[in-house]
Amino acid sequence: MKKIEVSLNSKSYPIYIGCSLKKIGDLFRKYPAGEKILIITDENVSNLYSENISRSLISIGKKVDIFVIKPGEASKNFEVAYELLKKCSLFGMDRSDIIIALGGGVVCDLAGFVAAIYLRGIKFVSIPTTLLAQVDASIGGKTGINLPWGKNLIGVFHQPYFVVMDIQTLNTLPEREINQGMAEIIKTAVIRSKKLFTFLQKLEKSQLHRFFSRLVYECVLIKKRVVESDEKEEKGIREILNFGHTFGHAVEINSKNLNHGESVAVGMIGETYIAFKKGLCSQKLFKDIISLVEKYGLPTRSDVSASKLVDSIRYDKKAKGGRSRFVLPVRVGAVKTGVEVSPEEILLYWEKW
Ligand code: ADP
Ligand code: ZN
Repeated sequence: MKKIEVSLNSKSYPIYIGCSLKKIGDLFRKYPAGEKILIITDENVSNLYSENISRSLISIGKKVDIFVIKPGEASKNFEVAYELLKKCSLFGMDRSDIIIALGGGVVCDLAGFVAAIYLRGIKFVSIPTTLLAQVDASIGGKTGINLPWGKNLIGVFHQPYFVVMDIQTLNTLPEREINQGMAEIIKTAVIRSKKLFTFLQKLEKSQLHRFFSRLVYECVLIKKRVVESDEKEEKGIREILNFGHTFGHAVEINSKNLNHGESVAVGMIGETYIAFKKGLCSQKLFKDIISLVEKYGLPTRSDVSASKLVDSIRYDKKAKGGRSRFVLPVRVGAVKTGVEVSPEEILLYWEKW
């Protein structure tokens, strides 16, 4: 088991990578807390993993209750959050008790949000079980729910007590979910790591599962360093994590069939195309990113029209003063932030590509 410490101004916490969920009680023993634990999870993950965790926690004397939500983004809303808060109250949880999020990004965002607002904030342990959540959502302290007109529009920063990742849980993940995670891993490589980029190029896709542990570790380390230098996203450093996401979010909102990772893949290619056309990066980088995206089973295009894209980008919550700011690659491992691209340019480049 590996441990990465995230050191923030507000709080520091460890991320454990490669901990068997059957033995999670041993880890909880080290952390002072009340005796009650509420596990928040979804139906799929609950069927696979909640039994092991509950048993291990009960064996160290914890009182465990579980709340199972329906899988999928639609559960990230006020109604479900309200039901969860009610559950916390009925279970008699106080400030010393712990909420566990067991699942993918949806569960982690929602459970983190509830932990952040119940009694003005209680302890929160995140156990991400998707590749996407392990390499991305689990670090950074962002929690939240959706509003009917937009994703993650309500939320707060709430750092976890600690994070536990069992790499074995990735073995039950459907391939499309693995591919989604690969999109964030490719993004991480482009923005910060030539070493990781080269590794992804050389890796045989059929051998991917053998390297999950290494990939997760590398990405967590990179994201930790970025988040540590800009905890609340105020200094512009954290902005680099947004590579592929300006277009990506717009694609995700408008596309009927692409998930987050797939949209980010399309977004990375669109944004790199702009970088290439603006003379910021080479055509080789553009081609190399396309090859990686294809290799890991991700789409390179979407059917979203340029005009819809421009409209959505205007309303992106990261747009400042109505202008779209892009993070564009310069070379592998380096990006330029805050590049303004006009709607006319977007229309032109998107249609061309
Ligand atoms: P993300 O945003 O991380 O992709 P979601 O919470 O939307 O996460 O989860 C994606 C889907 O994968 C959900 O249907 C969820 O139930 C399922 N899932 C999550 N973890 C696992 C796992 N380890 N094995 C199988 N299915 C899983
Ligand atoms: Zn993302």
